[in-house]
Amino acid sequence: MHHMTLAEIARGLADKKFSSEELTKALLARIAQLDPQLNSFISLTEELALSQAKAADARRANGESGALLGAPIAHKDLFCTQGIRTSCGSKMLDNFKAPYDATVVAKLAAAGTVTLGKTNMDEFAMGSANESSYYGAVKNPWNLEHVPGGSSGGSAAAVAARLLPAATATDTGGSIRQPAAFTNLTGLKPTYGRVSRWGMIAYASSLDQGGPLARTAEDCAILLQGMAGFDPNDSTSIDEPVPDYSASLNGSLQGLRIGVPKEYFGAGLDPRIAELIHNSVKELEKLGASIKEISLPNMQHAIPAYYVIAPAEASSNLSRFDGVRFGYRCENPQNLVDLYKRSRGEGFGAEVQRRIMVGAYALSAGYYDAYYLKAQKIRRLVKNDFMAAFNEVDIILGPTTPNPAWKLGAKNSDPVAEYLEDVYTITANLAGLPGLSMPAGFVDGLPVGVQLLAPYFQEGRLLNVAHQYQLNSDWHTRTPTGF
Ligand code: GLN
Repeated sequence: MHHMTLAEIARGLADKKFSSEELTKALLARIAQLDPQLNSFISLTEELALSQAKAADARRANGESGALLGAPIAHKDLFCTQGIRTSCGSKMLDNFKAPYDATVVAKLAAAGTVTLGKTNMDEFAMGSANESSYYGAVKNPWNLEHVPGGSSGGSAAAVAARLLPAATATDTGGSIRQPAAFTNLTGLKPTYGRVSRWGMIAYASSLDQGGPLARTAEDCAILLQGMAGFDPNDSTSIDEPVPDYSASLNGSLQGLRIGVPKEYFGAGLDPRIAELIHNSVKELEKLGASIKEISLPNMQHAIPAYYVIAPAEASSNLSRFDGVRFGYRCENPQNLVDLYKRSRGEGFGAEVQRRIMVGAYALSAGYYDAYYLKAQKIRRLVKNDFMAAFNEVDIILGPTTPNPAWKLGAKNSDPVAEYLEDVYTITANLAGLPGLSMPAGFVDGLPVGVQLLAPYFQEGRLLNVAHQYQLNSDWHTRTPTGF
């Protein structure tokens, strides 16, 4: 049962081959058996899952249908879930039970999904390896000595190991696409404003965006359908109609113009990954696409700009965790300043503290113009590069990451080495564009992802291209040994 995709589950439930309750019990048993190897869950919600599954079965018995009705999923542990611990991977929120559901959680629950649990993640979504979690590192099911990517590493490892068909995730600088690449999944970061951020604990508000992680583009379309849409509670949510993503999967790629940026293939890219990316380009050419070399000249400035803007926003967002209103509070504070200092010093891990300090520095009087303002100017240049490119092409294609998943601990002593691994993903967040990563092959037994970027609100185009590619390739069907 655990090998089924969301689309297969929907058909099986509709044909009464099994019930959501049976499927939910089978997956919970599988999680209990296999997750100790992976550490992909922070909390399991068995009771909630069983009651949601029974309710979904009852709705089906009453004649209701829907691709998500009775579908088991999990939420990254930064989506608020009412009455359930919402930790954000941090000691700071280890004792926090959210008083309300995030819009994404509420929408998916209304569509009939079954929540199996909350997945592990880098603390406050800061990281590319899922090693900064207070709950310990997540292991990559393709090789348990390697990282699964981050910050949505728990969602990725769980879906890759067939513990469940799909999960929610978020992407501030690559946290959906990079773990997708590292674990042989398909992951989509939507256009900024497409998916509500209400109830999604903020890391960097102008960059954060929720989206689906699944094994196929077809499943990403199904899950995104349940997540996307206007939300008056999120002031940056965009009031655009949500298209039928599944309906556009079968469009022909004849005449599709693919741009391949020459800057993507410079030093730093593993040549074996470059070869796999070129192979995927050839496949898409066979399906009718034409290829054009393009240029994104400001790409080289994106990492420094991102690592000023994201920490700056984080330092502001995380100021609410002060030991007073909710979350961790130190023992026996001597006075207010002592309460703030020790609650934050003890509640936040090293990477989060590093980012808060970098961000507060970049925003301080005297440095604001030199760092923050400059970074915002670069952000505009990065966006302008994309706008110029999309005058000539429909899709931009390249690697998702410069290297495959590294060994656990390999970059722990050098945070900048880890930041550099985000080179291909963060530009889409700076520009607010949608991006997708899909399986493109293996290097040393570890998965490699190809990234597709599209103009604003063209999620349907990304899913269409990925689905057509997946109809003609089998990388996405490979299963890690032991799972
Ligand atoms: N690796 C990036 C960072 O640490 C992106 C993380 C994310 O997308 N949440 O900021």
